[in-house]
Amino acid sequence: MTTDATPDEAPCPYCGHTNLRSWTLCDHCGKQLPWAPLKRVLKVQDMTDEQLQARFAALPRRPAPYLLTPEGRPALGATVILVVVILEILREWLF
Ligand SMILES: [Zn+2]
Repeated sequence: MTTDATPDEAPCPYCGHTNLRSWTLCDHCGKQLPWAPLKRVLKVQDMTDEQLQARFAALPRRPAPYLLTPEGRPALGATVILVVVILEILREWLF
């Protein structure tokens, strides 16, 4: 194959587009270039404790979108009152 690639460039084996050797994906077809370092999939048995913790730690629980009391508990009564007031306002507007 003839190419006008410089030493810093090489053609993609899939589409022939000339890519820089510092790139890992072909600029034209998006496939992984043969000189790109292979992505190593980290297996669970190879992970450190910190990696396991970061990967599998339970997500912090987020409160449901209710109004919350100062203690952080859902204030259902206030939420119901707010919904009723909004519905009343909408009813006044619409009818
Ligand atoms: Zn390509």
